[in-house]
Amino acid sequence: MNNPRLPTYARCSACRHPDHERYEQRIIDGTITQTQAAQAMGIEQSTLSRHMNQCLHRRLAEAGLKPAQVEAEVPNVLKHAVDAHKTTLELIDEAHAAGDLRACFMGLQTELKQLQFLATLTGQTDSSPELNLYLTSDYITLQQVLITSLADFPEARMKLSEALARLSSGAGAQGGDA
Ligand SMILES: [Zn+2]
Repeated sequence: MNNPRLPTYARCSACRHPDHERYEQRIIDGTITQTQAAQAMGIEQSTLSRHMNQCLHRRLAEAGLKPAQVEAEVPNVLKHAVDAHKTTLELIDEAHAAGDLRACFMGLQTELKQLQFLATLTGQTDSSPELNLYLTSDYITLQQVLITSLADFPEARMKLSEALARLSSGAGAQGGDA
């Protein structure tokens, strides 16, 4: 029992599922919901949710501690997170093409979460999380894409610009100006 690859955390039924990495990937990509994945894997949705929030993070933490042993998993997850980012931008584009502004805004929220996840994965949140996030080139590109994609909707575009400016200016910016 001295397999060096054996994780030190308790493995749940999702961890033990032979295809768990594939389902993790699809959940992160947004091509399947946790509920659908749980059904397909034959486990409780709450177990899968806990797995995604805890086991996956612990596995990454372990990977950080022992990069040589689990080297393959880190770029794998990172790659999928980056792919998910691209997919989200495409979906925002499609939502815009369909004239669905609400979906555009939901896309922005999803994108922010993905960027936060990416920032965590790449260690960009260590010192000053929010500031670093809003300074990333990804986030700046995202802002430009969103604002450009709303070109035909000046009112929504203005509101989005204001909301983005408030976000990136940090806490305390309570836009009460005229
Ligand atoms: Zn697990």
